[in-house]
Amino acid sequence: MSVEAHANWIGGRHVSAPSHYSVVNPATEEAVGYAPESRDGDVSAAVGAAREAYGSWARVEPRRRAAVLERIADLIDAHAKDLVPLVQAETGATMRVASTMQVPTAADRFRRYARGALEPTVVPLGPHPVGASALAPAGLIGAAAVRRPAGVVACITSYNFPIVNLAGKVAPALAMGNTVVAKPAPQDPLGCLELGPLFQEAGLPDGVYNVITGSGAAAGEALVAHPDVDMISFTGSTAVGKRIAESAGRRMARTLMELGGKGAAVVLPDADDRALKSAVMAVGSTWSFHSGQICTAPTRVLVHRSQYEQVVAGLKHYASALTIGDPVDNSTVVGPLISAAQRDRVEAYVAGAVEQGARLVAGGERPAIKPGFYVAPTLLADVRPDMTVAQEEIFGPVVVALAYDTEDEAVAIANGTPYGLYDYVFSADSARAWSLASRLRSGNVGINTAQRHPETPFGGFKESGVGRDGGSFGLHAYSELQSVVWPS
Ligand code: NAD
Repeated sequence: MSVEAHANWIGGRHVSAPSHYSVVNPATEEAVGYAPESRDGDVSAAVGAAREAYGSWARVEPRRRAAVLERIADLIDAHAKDLVPLVQAETGATMRVASTMQVPTAADRFRRYARGALEPTVVPLGPHPVGASALAPAGLIGAAAVRRPAGVVACITSYNFPIVNLAGKVAPALAMGNTVVAKPAPQDPLGCLELGPLFQEAGLPDGVYNVITGSGAAAGEALVAHPDVDMISFTGSTAVGKRIAESAGRRMARTLMELGGKGAAVVLPDADDRALKSAVMAVGSTWSFHSGQICTAPTRVLVHRSQYEQVVAGLKHYASALTIGDPVDNSTVVGPLISAAQRDRVEAYVAGAVEQGARLVAGGERPAIKPGFYVAPTLLADVRPDMTVAQEEIFGPVVVALAYDTEDEAVAIANGTPYGLYDYVFSADSARAWSLASRLRSGNVGINTAQRHPETPFGGFKESGVGRDGGSFGLHAYSELQSVVWPS
């Protein structure tokens, strides 16, 4: 792979920036490539291109929009052999994750929203008899609610699944007739920049998709504050989400916020061997799936005191069996974290927990692998709900285990953080688990599984976000409802 300077993609062409920053491979600590350091002028040019393209793209027949999105999916698949190594190098994803969950999932999302472009945008309403008023004569009044595109959408994303995250926003936005300025995360933006020419080849008109990058917050801030941006679709931390919401609120720009999480896996005391095994596997995904850099990870395991040591022992065994190492090695399960800063942050959380009295059951020492930003799968037991590691999102391969005595206590612990993104219940009694789900203040609940259903609305309660993406819910998120009324 050649290490090259990449350009922004604005108005259907590469626009080079006067300066660049290096995007670092977390496994080799070497530059993968150089991304543009965008200035305010680049942001304005990208928003201007999106605004100019909006009027005609919004009026393109849905069938044509669907065909373009379908071709985008095909082209992503066709370029997988170039995209997979690039995305793997910039994210540090393992072979399995990079080849099966990064690039193909992005293509799937475009395919899904190619169908989305054909979903009905008109919601018919029944005729309504009305009396004469100062407004109009009496009679039957007909009406429909119609979904219109939101306009120019800024798509700002987090690191970890760069093109999947991007596809999850851009595909439904384009399907609905919006135009987009994407601002990927500073750590892994190169795959997103590479998509511009593919979209053009697929027949997407110039200006409908634009991408700008930057090493710090400035490009995103300028984009959010730009008066010609109608909607901000953001995935990232709650802290940054709050700043964006403040800025957007000043001019009533629409927002979709997918923010942080602190998932609880509640293991009920009736859990049989099967449910316990499912719990260990699901919680273990915090270590084995992208080194825990996953917003939905079940990072807190809440176990009834009667089964607590059994579950802790099962998790310890699971953690010890995971191979840590170079992500390009097929046998690696746990790759590096995104950066030295993130590794240091995670290590500080673990050290702080031990100081506060947590029991270190697995991990806790930096793996002797160089180069790369590795953290060993870490399990902390005897964690109390008020400890920092039980409250704050760590975004690394760290699981905390808490014991509870009653179901009420389990619910209080599960709900006792500012987050509410994804919780899990493990039980031999699915009706009991269903009932417990109703008490969890969380946008998603998995019962005996960490598996996903692609059509579910995805989003958070509380500080984990506002709005929903996924399936048709995600399509609707990029629309405004317009009511049209007529005499019948
Ligand atoms: P982050 O909040 O630091 O950055 C996210 C994006 O916001 C980046 O593109 C960044 O450059 C940009 N940004 C930073 N400051 C900004 C500002 N003031 N204005 C506009 N844009 C700004 O998040 P991160 O470290 O990249 O990702 C990790 C976080 O993302 C975790 O909290 C994780 O839970 C969350 N996440 C959430 C989901 C979800 O769907 N809920 C999915 C993945 C990640």
